[in-house]
Amino acid sequence: MRNACKKIAAFLAALGLFSCGGASGGGAVGGSSRLAVTVTLFPLYDFAREIGGDRVELHLLVPPGADAHSFEPAPRDMVRLSRPGVFIYTGAAMEPWVRDFLAGVENPELHVIEAARGIGFAAEMAGNFAEEGREDPHVWLDLAYAQEMVNTIAEGLAAASQGDGEFFRERGRLYGEKLAALDEKLLRAVQGFRQKTLVFGGHFAFGYFVRRYGLDYISPYAGSGANTEPGPRRILQTAAKLKELGLSHVFYEEMAEPRLAGIIAREAGAELLLLHGAHTVTREELEGGVSFLELMERNLANLKTALE
Ligand SMILES: [Zn+2]
Repeated sequence: MRNACKKIAAFLAALGLFSCGGASGGGAVGGSSRLAVTVTLFPLYDFAREIGGDRVELHLLVPPGADAHSFEPAPRDMVRLSRPGVFIYTGAAMEPWVRDFLAGVENPELHVIEAARGIGFAAEMAGNFAEEGREDPHVWLDLAYAQEMVNTIAEGLAAASQGDGEFFRERGRLYGEKLAALDEKLLRAVQGFRQKTLVFGGHFAFGYFVRRYGLDYISPYAGSGANTEPGPRRILQTAAKLKELGLSHVFYEEMAEPRLAGIIAREAGAELLLLHGAHTVTREELEGGVSFLELMERNLANLKTALE
């Protein structure tokens, strides 16, 4: 095997494509100039893809469909990060498991990018029935913050790269303009809504979103991270509120069985609509190349259906 590898390597090395002994330092993958980048969540994956283009080799750590908050990395994930490269996560409030994970990775050549650094997590918006708020980690749903995250990632990739800094910065700038355009579109669209309160039947991850775009919401849950199922009283109150507001749609979250949203909808004679938090996408969506901008455009279309 070793000899075969050496032969193939010699051949490919002549073409500048391969090196046998693994990574050759400086964050490059194999002998190519692609930067090895491991990201935790889908929004970061998409941002890094937009910024990195064909100069990065991307790996999404939290697999499609898995819960990003409570993810438990496997030993093979640690092995992956023992090679030179870049690791991107949101921040401690979003991925509390990252601290221990990184403590177990002994790799001075690993560049770590905390994408939400400097943003400062806001207190979780209390659900309508909640008492106390924790930190709300879902910063990417405010597209002004998403632009800051893109800048942080572009700068981080530039710092880790050898010679591709301008490429990453320029692509980051161009992608930032797309986010800014959609941000503008959302702000304008919401101004034309007849109703600005939406009813959400899941864990509410949209605190930053509603604050940014001037919306309000009703949710039977206590907060975005609350695990206790709301009781029948709260469900009935939510359904009553829906009717009172003259709404005919209940929103539900991605990746979760919309059981509760379904009960509220049935109770109020309303229909279900998806509001995508973009934490995670399905394998089909990932393989189909779905983008963060696309998910947010779909959210806008569904909000128009419910509130315009
Ligand atoms: Zn979440």
